Amino acid sequence: MSTAQTARESVDILIVGGGMVGVALACALAPTGLSIRILEQRDEQPEQLINALPALSEQGFDPRVSALTCASQQLMTHLGAWSAIKHSRACVYTDMTVWDGTGRGEIHFSADELHEPCLGHIVENRVTLAALYGAMQQADNVIFEPGVRIETITPPNPLGERELHLADGRAIQTRLLVAADGAQSRVRSLTGMGATEWDYGHHAIVTTIETEAPHQDTCWQRFTEDGPLALLPLAHPNGRTLSIVWSTSPAHARELMALDDDAFCGALGKAFEHRLGAILRTDKRHVHPLRQRHAQRYVQPGLALVGDAAHTIHPLAGQGVNLGFLDVAALAEVVLDAHERGDAWWSERVLRRYQRMRRADNLQTAAAMEGFRRLFDDLPAPLRLLRSSGMSLVDRMAPVKQHLVLMAMGLRGEVPRLARRPLS
Ligand SMILES: Cc1cc2nc3c(=O)[nH]c(=O)nc-3n(C[C@H](O)[C@H](O)[C@H](O)COP(=O)(O)OP(=O)(O)OC[C@H]3O[C@@H](n4cnc5c(N)ncnc54)[C@H](O)[C@@H]3O)c2cc1C
Repeated sequence: MSTAQTARESVDILIVGGGMVGVALACALAPTGLSIRILEQRDEQPEQLINALPALSEQGFDPRVSALTCASQQLMTHLGAWSAIKHSRACVYTDMTVWDGTGRGEIHFSADELHEPCLGHIVENRVTLAALYGAMQQADNVIFEPGVRIETITPPNPLGERELHLADGRAIQTRLLVAADGAQSRVRSLTGMGATEWDYGHHAIVTTIETEAPHQDTCWQRFTEDGPLALLPLAHPNGRTLSIVWSTSPAHARELMALDDDAFCGALGKAFEHRLGAILRTDKRHVHPLRQRHAQRYVQPGLALVGDAAHTIHPLAGQGVNLGFLDVAALAEVVLDAHERGDAWWSERVLRRYQRMRRADNLQTAAAMEGFRRLFDDLPAPLRLLRSSGMSLVDRMAPVKQHLVLMAMGLRGEVPRLARRPLS
């Protein structure tokens, strides 16, 4: 298309990707008063999801759920989204039980031990997104555009501005472009931001199930020979409905997907050692191949990557979107501070601070997930014994347990201001 035909628009901040992370970032940056636009490729209007929330109790559960940490809860509260989450379908969990399926090692974490009301909440992704859409609509300076296709992105001009060319012929100029477009980020590849990636050798089966015994507000995780199997409690009045994430070899996942519902419930009950009795029912199953990805850099002048566009990790500790929300809190903190000082908030110097706050922390979590995965790979019998004794030992070591649980709650290390709990 010639330049003369191009309809040219301009915004201060352009966020590509209207998933949980992109929308949270728009809400967090809204207090700057800068013009913010979100471009989303899906066709869905925010109102469709928001309007569906009140009738949620008549519908089945979204197979995609997230264990939201206390830090994420804090960020959602700050953005004005928590009350809608809490009043929809959020299941508080107070305990976590993790055990070695091939030995006798077991660790139990409890909110009581920490004198905390809970360890976190299990929330359907669509509930979190709808609540964030609701918060976004309170901001006059945020525009959400669904059904958008990006074609090209120009390198920054001497003023540091980039231009995005869309499939409908428009061009949008911006000072800060943010990639929040998920694991396969097109913005990351169009701007030449390299990422290191490898296959975990696992596929994750997700679905909703009903068990014979109550879930006891507990997240359950068994490390099997093929990979971790997690059962997460859901907010259903029967107290026996859970979401599962069963990570296993691709071949085993194919076998499990081919089973009919009764046979699948039987296989799941056995893999879970029937800790909650029989599995009575399953919803439709979905499978996700699991890959680890990490961008070599998170920033360039006028460009930042956040959430899954910057990093994807194994879901075994339920940290993916929580890390994305910490990225949001950190990026918003540096941009808000620079904007308030009258500084060039889009400059690489400012954005590098965001990278320093988040990249090492995300890498550390990714390395921990990889370590866990390998630790529970098929080990020779003597090492299995050592692993099992190690787990039981950790269970008796209060400071180590406390460190692990604070990590799981997102409260370890330097927590960005917007995700920090107020001092009591
Ligand atoms: C099986 C499984 C279980 C998980 N469990 C947990 C858990 O318990 N806890 C947890 O914290 N995390 C969990 N995760 C990870 C979590 O789901 C992700 O980290 C999270 O969804 C990332 O959010 P995001 O907004 O960065 O990306 P996405 O959710 O991928 O959103 C990206 C958005 O960008 C849009 N988009 C993509 N490309 C374009 C484009 N070119 N132009 C415009 N828009 C575009 C997409 O349509 C989408 O709306 C799990 C993941 C898996 C696979």
